[in-house]
Amino acid sequence: MPESSTALRLGLDVGGTNLRLGVFSNLTLLEETRFQANYSNICKQYPPGEAWQQILQVTAKAIQAMLDKHPEIQSIGIGFPGFINPKSGLLAQSPNLPGLLNVNLGRDLSQLLGRKVLVFNDGNAAAYGEYCSLELPAGGLLYAGLGTGIGGGLVANGKVWAGAHGYALELGHLIVEHDGPECGCGNRGCVEQYASATAIGKNYARQTGKQLSAHEVSTLASQGDKQAQSVFALAGEKLAQAIALTLNIVDVENVVIGGGVVSSWALMEASFIYRLQTDLIRVLRDKVKVSLSSSGDNAGMLGAALLADISV
Ligand SMILES: [Zn+2]
Repeated sequence: MPESSTALRLGLDVGGTNLRLGVFSNLTLLEETRFQANYSNICKQYPPGEAWQQILQVTAKAIQAMLDKHPEIQSIGIGFPGFINPKSGLLAQSPNLPGLLNVNLGRDLSQLLGRKVLVFNDGNAAAYGEYCSLELPAGGLLYAGLGTGIGGGLVANGKVWAGAHGYALELGHLIVEHDGPECGCGNRGCVEQYASATAIGKNYARQTGKQLSAHEVSTLASQGDKQAQSVFALAGEKLAQAIALTLNIVDVENVVIGGGVVSSWALMEASFIYRLQTDLIRVLRDKVKVSLSSSGDNAGMLGAALLADISV
């Protein structure tokens, strides 16, 4: 992680549902703003050009409010849910913000604010935030964030491994069931269609016809609703499939699972552990440490803030 300094850093975590902004001094969150920006719905309701302008204006206004309050902020980084070309900064695709194509959030916000704003894939940002929070764990770290979609990131040798084109570790789009439900990425049966908050609501609706949020399905499962329990058990199993596939290739020691869905982890844990142990190659089975995010889901903001600082 970057050397300690007294500079303040601003990190944003853009989700399909929530927009969060955090002001950090080193690793400490000094102040947070969180609100439902519903960017996913904006993209579904408006033509892409109009949706983009709305997203830009809402995000810029939120950043400016923080800058007005903390003029000593030195760097601004954003974790954004999409495939972002690291060279051009263009968004190649965002499965949960449909219609957005070849837009450049970093450039457009920098122009609006008159300040440099850097944008990273949200999974990469969260992976880096977790890595920096965990006192530099040895052996690398794989992150899976379960939110509106599923983000992923890998930190090895202290650096985010973004891949040749910037699209590495798209864990949420590993296919775990051929001919499974259609995904926003255009394929079918991605793990995101089982273990994201969106998928948990949809899969419960498929079984029962009732449209509920993941949180509501979780409450029902805790009260003994068998169909709700089976949706979470399937989520745990499919997530483990995707993580085992990844670990069998990258062989890192630490797995951190974050995002809003981890509040229901107890409903997923048994099926997750069973499938992970089954699908991992034997030599890795007792060597991987799986933990839930200890950052209170702040890793995305923290990682974006820190990455912006070292990327300037
Ligand atoms: Zn997908």
